[in-house]
Amino acid sequence: MISHFLTFDVEHWYEGYRYRYGGGWEKFPARDHDTVERLLSLLEERGIKATFFVTGAFVESFPLVTRKIADTGHELASHSYSHTVVHRFPDIQRFREDLHRSVCLIEDVSGKKVLGFRAPKWSIPQEPESFYESLLAEQLIYDSSLFPGLKESGVPDFPFVRELISGRKIWEIPATTLDVASLRIPAAGGLWLRLFPKFVTKQAFRQGESRGVPRMVYLHPYDLDPECPRIFSSMTLGAIPFMFARYYGLARTEKILRELFMTFRFSSIQEWLSAERATQFSATTSSPSA
Ligand SMILES: [Zn+2]
Repeated sequence: MISHFLTFDVEHWYEGYRYRYGGGWEKFPARDHDTVERLLSLLEERGIKATFFVTGAFVESFPLVTRKIADTGHELASHSYSHTVVHRFPDIQRFREDLHRSVCLIEDVSGKKVLGFRAPKWSIPQEPESFYESLLAEQLIYDSSLFPGLKESGVPDFPFVRELISGRKIWEIPATTLDVASLRIPAAGGLWLRLFPKFVTKQAFRQGESRGVPRMVYLHPYDLDPECPRIFSSMTLGAIPFMFARYYGLARTEKILRELFMTFRFSSIQEWLSAERATQFSATTSSPSA
C-alpha cells in the first residue's frame, strides 16, 4: 500500500494578510500554536507522522510547541524565516540569509537536522538554479515548493530527482494535482481540499495509487481553525477572492482529514525518502548528494 505525504505549513495565521496589506498584524492574538497542539493529538490518535514546514518566526514565538512536534516523532522542515515570497527578496543572498536563519533556529530547538524546504506560496523563482543551490548549501536534500502546472507543461507531478547545471542533485516533492481528461487541477491541499467534494480529493489519491506514485496533503493551521479572525477593515472588492480562499469551508477540513486517514496511508516526507532511497529509487536513479 502506497504511503502518501502529510504536510503542514506552520506560519502565523496573518501571513496572508501581511502578504497583501503589509505589516502590523502582530498586535492580534496568536492562536496557531493551539491548533498545532490539537493537530498533534489527532495525529497521535491515528498513529500518523507528518512533515511540518515551520517558519523561523513561528519557531521564535513558540519554541516549546516546535520542539514538541519533533519530540513526538514528526519531521520539522523549513518554510523560510520571514515567510517572504522568494522573488520578493532583492537578491539571492538575502534569500540565503533568511533560509539559513530558519534552518539554524529549527535545528537549535529540535536538535535534529533539517532536510527540506517549502517556499512561501510555492514561489520557485523563474531562474531557479541559485535557489536550489542555496538549499544544497544548507545541506538540505529535498525541496517541496513545486506546484505542477498544466498537463502539457511536462512538469512532473510526482517525486523526482532534479539535476542542476552544477551536476548536483536534489529531490523535488511536488504538490498534488488531479488529471481530468486533458486538464490538471490542484487538489488535496488548502482551499482545494476544503472546496471540492470529498470524492474529488480521494480520486486524486486513487489516481496516484494507480500510477504507483504518492500524493500529498498540504494544510496550514488556519485551515483547521474555523474561529480564525476575519479582518475586514480597509478591504475592497478585490479582497473577495482572498477572503474566499482563506475562509471557505474551514469547518470541513478536520472531517475530511479524518476520512482521508481512514482511507489512505500517510507518512512524513523524511520517512518516505529514507525508504525510497534505500530501495527502488536508488537502484534506478542516482540519489541526490546530501
Ligand atoms: Zn506559507
